[in-house]
Amino acid sequence: MRIVLMGPPGAGKGTQAKKLVETYGIPQIATGDILRAAVQEGTALGKKAKEYMERGLLVPDDVITGIVKERLKEIDVEKGFILDGFPRTIPQAESLEKILEEMGVKLDAVINIVVPQDELIERFTGRRVCEICGATYHVKYNPPKQEGICDKCGGRLIVRADDEVKTVEKRIDVYERETKPLIDYYRSKNLLVNIDGNRPIEVVFEEIKGFLRGEG
Ligand code: ADP
Ligand code: ADP
Ligand code: ZN
Repeated sequence: MRIVLMGPPGAGKGTQAKKLVETYGIPQIATGDILRAAVQEGTALGKKAKEYMERGLLVPDDVITGIVKERLKEIDVEKGFILDGFPRTIPQAESLEKILEEMGVKLDAVINIVVPQDELIERFTGRRVCEICGATYHVKYNPPKQEGICDKCGGRLIVRADDEVKTVEKRIDVYERETKPLIDYYRSKNLLVNIDGNRPIEVVFEEIKGFLRGEG
């Protein structure tokens, strides 16, 4: 199964991707996670990416496409993958198509998680991530068992640097301009599936699974 999870920042892509990983045993490829790891390690990529991420802007297409191309060479993607946060622009989608063509595989579906804007803001303000393992929580919608502590690894829960209101508004703006056109792009390729993401995490997940079962 080869799928792309799409949707505005805060829609729940990462949350659903992690659940799909548990159910289907295929890897999640989250470009945001890869970039944050690079920033933390202070690599050349991380130094470059940081400037864009801090301002809520997209990292240049060639940089991000290079990362995904390398990642898709790894052995664990043979049975499939979940792309989370990539592609985010039309050029990225075109590059992905070329990469997959060279691999001799095709996407099965592009799952577009739809959430209204005022709800997105609510999600950002409550989002907390584990400093150690990157697990995502929400103070109200998906709280950890013990406040401020990761259920999975005991790490400290922090607010992501780019989840500050001003940066979030910028990211939503960038989404509207640069990523939204992908909806029509994938619709015209008959790959688009819209999922109403404005419901509890489990309900959204059941619907995605139901769709994927139908797909076979
Ligand atoms: P969210 O899940 O909230 O949408 P991500 O973790 O996916 O955020 O991405 C965080 C930041 O990393 C983005 O704001 C952007 O700067 C950068 N980024 C992630 N994926 C891409 C991509 N495909 N193209 C360009 N920049 C990206
Ligand atoms: P994305 O990867 O699309 O940026 P996340 O998966 O990080 O989004 O989710 C954003 C925030 O909203 C997190 O705090 C997460 O716990 C919470 N969240 C995710 N899905 C839902 C949902 N269906 N209902 C309520 N809150 C959600
Ligand atoms: Zn953790």
